[in-house]
Amino acid sequence: MSYKSDIEIAREAKKRPIQEIGDKLGIPTEHLLPFGHDKAKVSQNFINSVQSNDDGKLILVTAINPTPAGEGKTTTTVGLGDGLNRIGKKAMVCIREASLGPNFGMKGGAAGGGYAQIVPMEDMNLHFTGDFHAITSAHSLLSAMIDNHIYWGNELQIDERRVAWRRVVDMNDRALRDIVCSLGGVSNGFPRQTGYDITVASEVMAILCLSNNLEDLQRRLGDIIVAYTRERTPIYCRDIGADGAMTVLLKDAMQPNLVQTLENNPAFVHGGPFANIAHGCNSVIATKTAMKLVDYVVTEAGFGADLGAEKFMNIKCRKAGIAPSVVVLVATVRAMKMNGGVAKADLGEENVSAVEAGCPNLGRHIENLKSFGVPVVVAINHFVTDTDAEVQAVKDYVGEHGSEAIVSRHWELGSEGSEALARRVAEVADADVASFAPIYPDEMPLFEKIETIAKRIYRADEVLADKKIRQQLRDWEEAGYGNLPVCMAKTQYSFSTDPNLRGAPTGHSVPVREVRLSAGAGFIVVVCGEIMTMPGLPRQPAALTIGLNADGEIEGLF
Ligand code: ADP
Ligand code: MG
Repeated sequence: MSYKSDIEIAREAKKRPIQEIGDKLGIPTEHLLPFGHDKAKVSQNFINSVQSNDDGKLILVTAINPTPAGEGKTTTTVGLGDGLNRIGKKAMVCIREASLGPNFGMKGGAAGGGYAQIVPMEDMNLHFTGDFHAITSAHSLLSAMIDNHIYWGNELQIDERRVAWRRVVDMNDRALRDIVCSLGGVSNGFPRQTGYDITVASEVMAILCLSNNLEDLQRRLGDIIVAYTRERTPIYCRDIGADGAMTVLLKDAMQPNLVQTLENNPAFVHGGPFANIAHGCNSVIATKTAMKLVDYVVTEAGFGADLGAEKFMNIKCRKAGIAPSVVVLVATVRAMKMNGGVAKADLGEENVSAVEAGCPNLGRHIENLKSFGVPVVVAINHFVTDTDAEVQAVKDYVGEHGSEAIVSRHWELGSEGSEALARRVAEVADADVASFAPIYPDEMPLFEKIETIAKRIYRADEVLADKKIRQQLRDWEEAGYGNLPVCMAKTQYSFSTDPNLRGAPTGHSVPVREVRLSAGAGFIVVVCGEIMTMPGLPRQPAALTIGLNADGEIEGLF
C-alpha cells in the first residue's frame, strides 16, 4: 500500500476561512488580523480582554530520546488536539513556527505529518506571517547600532574584542559562522571578528517567546548583554538605546498566529526558539492566551523529555506561572528498537527483543516526568510497519513501570485514530491529580542547579567543570543572576552527553564546556558538547529539488 506525502495531504485540505476558526474561539472579526484567507494574528486588545477568563488545562507532549528521523511529537500534538475536538472537547494546539533555512537542507517540515497536520503547511514552513523576518530585523538593528556606536567614538568604551552580540540570518550558511566585519578602510569602522547564527538561535527569539506583553518584551530586550568594557563591565542593549526601536519592529510579531488543523480545529503557531541554547517551546503569550480560550491546550516541547520537557517545566512554566495537568510521552516502536541497539537500516524488521531492550529509555522518562508531580500517559505513535507483538511489548513494559500506553493512529487516520488517546488524556487532566513543581528552587546556587538536572534527570554521577566555569557562575551570582534557571545544551539522542549512548545509561559524567548568560531571556546556558548555532547545508540540499509546478504549486518541499 502506498501513502500520500505530507504535502499531498496538506494540499487536499478543506480549509475553512480563518474567521470561522476565530469564531470557534470567540474572537470577534475586528480582533482577527488576517494574512490572506487562512492565517491571522490575534490582536493584543483581544488578548487583554480575556485575561479574567478561567484557565483551561495544559497538556504537554514530549518524547523519548529521538532517533535521527524525529519521533512524531508535532504529529501527535496535532492528532491529540483533533482527537479531543472529536470527542466533543473544546481544545486547541499550540506549537512552534518553523525556521525557514533548514527546509532547504534536509526534508522535514514542522507542521506535523500524515493526517495530523497544521495548514497552510507550506506557508508555515516558509515566510508565514513574517515573524522570523521581524526577529531577524530587530536583532540586526542592535548589531548595526553596536558597531555604529563604536564608529562614532565609542562613548561606552566597548572593548571591540568583547562584543558578545553576533549577527543572524534565517538560512543555513556555514560560510558565515566566523567572519571579520568592518573591513575596507576608515569609513567602514573598526575591523573585528564576529559571526552569524541562524535566526532561531537569536536571544531575541527566546525573549519574544518568554515575554508576557510588550512592556515585558522591551524590558527584557533592554537587559540583553551585548558587550563588555576592558574592565569587564557589561554593556546592555539599553545602554546602546536599541530596546525601544526593537520593540517597534517586534510589535506585530508578538501577536500569536491563528491557523487550523486538517480537521479545521484552531491552532496557534507562534515563536520557535532553538531547543539547545534556548528553551525550545512556542511563545508564552500564545500558550497563555489559548488557556483563556479553550478547555484543553495541547502543546509541544522540542527534543526528548530530558531536554524539552525539563526546560518546559523548569524554564517556561516557572517563568510564565503555568503548570501542565498531564504529560503525553510519545514513544515509537522504531525509537525503542534504536535505543535497543538496532541500526537505522534494519528498523523495518520485526524485533521484539530489541524493542524490550530499548524500553528502559522510556521507563526513565516516565520516572523523570513524574518527579515534576505530573501524571504521564504514553502515546505509541503508530507506524504502519509496527507489528502487534512489538506494540504489545511496549504496552507491557509501560504497564509494569507505573504508567499506561495507548496506541494512536492519527498519522494514518486523523482524529479517528487518536480518539482513545484523547479520551484517556482528557480523563487524566480532569482528575486534577497533578501537583506540579519545578525540580529546583530559584534560590539554589547555579552549579547545584546543573547538578540537580544532571543527577536527577540524566542520572549522571557528577558534573565536570573547570575552575574558570565555576568562578564564572559565582561571578554571575554576585552580579544578581543567581536566581535564574539553567538552560542545558546537550545532545538530544542520549540522556548522557554522548549521542551514541542510548537506552538508560548510568555512571556517566556531564562535562560542562562553557556557560553563557542570556540576561534578557533570563537563563544561564550550560553548554555540554558540540552545539551548532549556524547549521550548514548537506551535499545534496533539498533546495535542488524544490520548485514550482505548472499550477504554481510548491513541489519537493516535503
Ligand atoms: P517531531 O515533532 O518529534 O520532530 P514530527 O511530528 O515533526 O516529529 O514528525 C517527523 C516526521 O515523521 C514527519 O515527516 C512525519 O510525517 C513523520 N511521522 C510522524 N509520525 C508518523 C507515523 N506515525 N507514521 C509515519 N510517519 C510519521
Ligand atoms: Mg516537532
